[in-house]
Amino acid sequence: MKNDILNYNNIPFKTLFARERIEARVKEMGLQIAQDYTDKDPVVVCILRGGVYFFSDLTKEIPISLELDFIQAKSYIGTESSGTVELIKDLDSDIKDRDVLLVEDIVDTGRTLKFLISHILSKKPKSLEVASLLFKEGGDAVGYPIKYVGWNIGKEFVIGYGLDYDGKFRNLPGVFLYSE
Ligand code: 5GP
Repeated sequence: MKNDILNYNNIPFKTLFARERIEARVKEMGLQIAQDYTDKDPVVVCILRGGVYFFSDLTKEIPISLELDFIQAKSYIGTESSGTVELIKDLDSDIKDRDVLLVEDIVDTGRTLKFLISHILSKKPKSLEVASLLFKEGGDAVGYPIKYVGWNIGKEFVIGYGLDYDGKFRNLPGVFLYSE
């Protein structure tokens, strides 16, 4: 495929999901979410920082009344999971008895999500569902159903569209395979 490679700072990155494919999939997901949440006035929560592009594009494709909030946890160093998860930024809104939709960039081991799900559930929302753009093979450790998934992928490390490698590459316009 001709447009399969993106040259970024003279580094060639192989495309996994190009911008147009992501746009189309995010639109589909937004419509499905809008149908499921009509008249529910959900709180849609972005998991910072990786979820930021997916979250901002997705929420614009959900044409119903909703509120936005942000949460941040830290669990990942380089390309290997450090194993511990720490809450860095909590929600600002009161989500008790609210329908909450948590938006994640990628589920790998599922450790981060498991931690955030139990934290959010402790605030007694009316319901909690998760949307993740990507779901990596073996992410079943979450122990909670991920209702909205963009794509299932293999074990490869990906960057772009919010996903970083050591803080870089988040602004790549699609999802790319990272190789050193
Ligand atoms: P988990 O706790 O599910 O193992 O990891 C979740 C977090 O690790 C994600 O929110 C993301 O920030 C990071 N992560 C996991 N896999 C990848 C990957 O392939 N690429 C990048 N850039 N980050 C990843």
